[in-house]
Amino acid sequence: MKTHPPFSPIDLHLHSTASDGVLSPSDLMREVADAGVRMAALTDHDSVNGLHEAGRQAGALGLELIPGVEMTALWQRKTLHILGLGIDARHPDLRAYLEGVHACRLERAQRIARRLRDAGIEGALDGARALAGKALLTRPHFARYLVAQGHARDVQEAFRHYLARGRPGHVATQWASMETVIEHIHGAGGIAVLAHPLRYRLTASWMRRLLGAFVDSGGEAMEVSCGHYSRDEFEHSIRLARHHGLQGSQGSDFHGYQSPWTRPGRIPPLPESIPPVWASWC
Ligand code: AMP
Ligand code: MN
Ligand code: MN
Ligand code: MN
Repeated sequence: MKTHPPFSPIDLHLHSTASDGVLSPSDLMREVADAGVRMAALTDHDSVNGLHEAGRQAGALGLELIPGVEMTALWQRKTLHILGLGIDARHPDLRAYLEGVHACRLERAQRIARRLRDAGIEGALDGARALAGKALLTRPHFARYLVAQGHARDVQEAFRHYLARGRPGHVATQWASMETVIEHIHGAGGIAVLAHPLRYRLTASWMRRLLGAFVDSGGEAMEVSCGHYSRDEFEHSIRLARHHGLQGSQGSDFHGYQSPWTRPGRIPPLPESIPPVWASWC
């Protein structure tokens, strides 16, 4: 029997060329609308620079765009991603903060390039920059450069061999704390959503601690339905959100058709037992 892939018309986690996505904000909005999505959040890594273009295109398509950002944070020496949804992207404190993150990412990119050069790979900074264009620098830009130069077969292999923790091109980065990131999201009028909690590979007791600390810091929601979750992970997320009294969010984390497993809207909808994060702006 043919099974239908899960689908939801609400997709609150998407990337464009303003960070490590491969589609421009306008092209992304067209893909998302063509897929049947009616409400979308653009959530680029540490950047709101795609939101203006995305907003114009979404308006033309009759797609509701929620302004968002996926902020990088540290908690107990673990790197986390926290989505800010419904933010005011022009908020001066948020903009100043993100400019600081861009500077920190440039410095980190220089260190990654130096380490790759020590491993015999030349030109990585210029190569990653050429691929990033006007976007902030992310590890996927380095990964694509490594693939283009024949050092890896695909982006996943480039991460495994060069960019992941413990590999020659990895550098530890002093991101802002989870508390600081949540404060910035709230300061800009947004809702803080812990992105893909099951991707951090925590034990059950660390997961409880993380979600407890996130709630204590004012975080409102967690991603329950994710493009790269299995059915079991989805069910587990539902239990975690209920246990910690968190609202639920859902998003594909679509970066472009190069990544094999995600598509806009290809996510199971939240069950009715979880209060949806979008209730506050619907
Ligand atoms: P950065 O914020 O610059 O460290 O880049 C993080 C991004 O790299 C994530 O959002 C993913 O899109 C991508 N990424 C992280 N780990 C992997 C991996 N093992 N394979 C492919 N992409 C990855
Ligand atoms: Mn990414
Ligand atoms: Mn993420
Ligand atoms: Mn993401």
